[in-house]
Amino acid sequence: MEDLCYYEVLQVSKDATTAEIKKAYRKLALKYHPDKNPGDKEAEEKFKIVNEAYAVLSDDEKRRIYDMYGKEGLGNGNSRGFSSSMDDIMDIFNSMFGDAFGFGQTRAQREQSMPYPLDIEIETTLEFNEAVFGTEKEIEINYKKPCKSCNGTGAKDGRLSTCNYCGGQGQIVMRQGFMTFAQECPKCHGKGRVVTQKCPECKGIGGITKSETVKINIPAGVNVGNRLRVPAKGNIDNRGYRGDLYIHFDIIDDEHFVRDGDDIYIEVPVFFTQILLSEEIEVPSLEGSLTIKLSPKVRDKEHFVFYNKGVPNVNNPSRRGRFIAQIKIVYPKKLSIKQKELVSKLHESFGLESKPTKSLFKNAFNKIKEWVK
Ligand SMILES: [Zn+2]
Ligand SMILES: [Zn+2]
Repeated sequence: MEDLCYYEVLQVSKDATTAEIKKAYRKLALKYHPDKNPGDKEAEEKFKIVNEAYAVLSDDEKRRIYDMYGKEGLGNGNSRGFSSSMDDIMDIFNSMFGDAFGFGQTRAQREQSMPYPLDIEIETTLEFNEAVFGTEKEIEINYKKPCKSCNGTGAKDGRLSTCNYCGGQGQIVMRQGFMTFAQECPKCHGKGRVVTQKCPECKGIGGITKSETVKINIPAGVNVGNRLRVPAKGNIDNRGYRGDLYIHFDIIDDEHFVRDGDDIYIEVPVFFTQILLSEEIEVPSLEGSLTIKLSPKVRDKEHFVFYNKGVPNVNNPSRRGRFIAQIKIVYPKKLSIKQKELVSKLHESFGLESKPTKSLFKNAFNKIKEWVK
């Protein structure tokens, strides 16, 4: 395997923030997770290296050492400074994310069950308003139920053969000096039995894909990064137990409203005369309209903040974010002769107030004259 630097592995820049690193890791770990790629050696290697990179770059101290000395700096006798046993990696993965991915909970659970994972992860796209207000949606999902001709084993006629790599033990023992280590058999993944002849019905997958329309209630305030669990809508195992469905969200941007967590921003263009005349303007908000009272004191980019008028918090709907209107002062692009006359009149009417530089710089101009003589 080529030796990429950790930043390349996570596809982030060297000055990436902790949040960016976490996000990149999450995406890649999900893609290469062993439960999603059963039996795929390349994915497993990638999963390992992604975890290794994350373990270093998410730890400020390790990252500092890595930036200065590279992988060797993290040494500790182990050339990579990192354990590469799959079980250790799964433990790290789970300790970082808990069951945030909904799979890979325990070793025991992975060993006993089907050739495919029982939980399903999908992503669905929501309109801006669907995410803000919540909605009921019907989603078509694909799930697996055990293949009848192989009883969910993936082997022709359900006949698995003893793994010849580990002799059916499910683990291999390695010796290093006087120490021995038991490791999960890489060929059968601890099962002790392997498929030699694939079931022609399911092509060795162990399950047949079915589709189903699932009605889901999406709560108000859902956001990118949230995950919704729909119980018992995952894959089915040969004991009839059904896993869960986990839904991730992608949300389409709105043309006017910009969402930041539970806060909503809107840019409000106002003409300069509206400000001078202290007009009241109506601004569209999540629930009808809000009124903004302008005054000559209002500055460009000024924020008018309305508390509790933003997005309901997904975990606590009685708590809402802020609605923030940002002023954008607009000036005329050109003036007609008539308008120019009017502005001149207005200008004159202010007298000395309309020429603030005159009195302020009077002494400065005299001073400069002395200096440049
Ligand atoms: Zn084996
Ligand atoms: Zn089959």
